[in-house]
Amino acid sequence: MSANAPDVAIVGGGIVGCALAAFLAEDGARVRLYEREQLAAGASGRNSGLLQHPMDEALTGVYAASAALYEELGHGFELPAEAVGVLVVSEDAAALEPTRADLAARFPELRAEALHPATLHAAEPVLAEGLAAFRLDTGLPVPPAAATQAFAARARAAGAELIEGVAGTPVIDGARVTGIRTATGTEPAGAVVVAAGPWTSALISNPQPGVRPLLEGWRPISALWGVNVELRLAQPPRHAIEEGGIQDLQHADGGLGNLFSLVTRDGVSALGSTFLPEQPEPTEVAPALVERGARFVPELGGTHVVSVRACARPMSADGRPLLGPLADGLFVAAGHGPWGISLGPGSARLVADAVLGRPAEIPRELAAARFQPAA
Ligand SMILES: Cc1cc2nc3c(=O)[nH]c(=O)nc-3n(C[C@H](O)[C@H](O)[C@H](O)COP(=O)(O)OP(=O)(O)OC[C@H]3O[C@@H](n4cnc5c(N)ncnc54)[C@H](O)[C@@H]3O)c2cc1C
Repeated sequence: MSANAPDVAIVGGGIVGCALAAFLAEDGARVRLYEREQLAAGASGRNSGLLQHPMDEALTGVYAASAALYEELGHGFELPAEAVGVLVVSEDAAALEPTRADLAARFPELRAEALHPATLHAAEPVLAEGLAAFRLDTGLPVPPAAATQAFAARARAAGAELIEGVAGTPVIDGARVTGIRTATGTEPAGAVVVAAGPWTSALISNPQPGVRPLLEGWRPISALWGVNVELRLAQPPRHAIEEGGIQDLQHADGGLGNLFSLVTRDGVSALGSTFLPEQPEPTEVAPALVERGARFVPELGGTHVVSVRACARPMSADGRPLLGPLADGLFVAAGHGPWGISLGPGSARLVADAVLGRPAEIPRELAAARFQPAA
């Protein structure tokens, strides 16, 4: 390898790629990250901005690790002092109770607590009358791109090279990945990590025209598009609010459509959420989101929209991330679906350790190699 070839090349400058670059560079690796647009151009810069418990036993360890990494992140990143709480709301009390009881049994730390209508209105005055709700003890609102930008700054401070505006694809040589191909040529690398969000499957299953892919037909990650509408409410909610049933839509096979969610930070509220297989035109989707949201928070109906944006969740076939080695010289860190901001740093730490050859602690249910190419 040439003298300035990186030990590790990373494809993708979202939360996962930037956290990986920081950890690897801090542990002494020469790191080069390729981002085809700008850092945080995808969902990592356009999400709703809520660090939230993922409500899946297989993910709670990674979530706890991420929370600890956020505490010490620095580089301009600040965590709110305490969780605002997530209110799960519904027009149908009977439909909500089984979800609450299930979460209360599985995750006592969330203190899933049903709120009596009178208590509910006192706790969250912006809500419409007649709703049922329960509260979860989680939810730290942060600016959407803040974590990614902070990890990028930390990576650069540790010597990583983060290149924007350059697309990269893994170079295949026989049965192994040996580097990165860009528009200007190929560059060797000791290892390649694909952290390209929803575009990860395509990069791995079909990276180079004319070259037989290492893993033809490997497509466990797809895009599930969301639209966020930003507004400034005269009376902003105290909690993050989401409509009951939203957890089901957050799985690749959970159905499509839109349900109400609202995350507020510093007076700006991000209204969602859509779950669409194709990239939408956000301004066409926004009126339906506002209309649905106004059923739960009436003031949304008359509020001026500040901005709208679309982005894609990297959804895996079983709703959990894919982490770690996949082939000789090739690692994956992707597939975080609706939880990438909440889980990204913990996942990146696990993959960084695997790349560095440390004892692997990646849980079996999150291992990238659990998915095989389709026949
Ligand atoms: C509407 C919406 C709201 C959300 N809200 C939350 C939330 O409140 N809390 C939470 O925890 N999660 C949330 N998420 C999920 C979270 O945003 C994602 O899981 C996370 O951002 C994924 O990060 P990533 O780094 O894996 O991928 P991405 O952010 O998609 O980054 C991948 C990057 O790879 C780049 N890339 C692709 N191909 C190439 C190539 N060939 N060469 C170089 N670069 C390439 C892309 O340009 C992109 O920048 C939300 C998602 C959506 C859609």
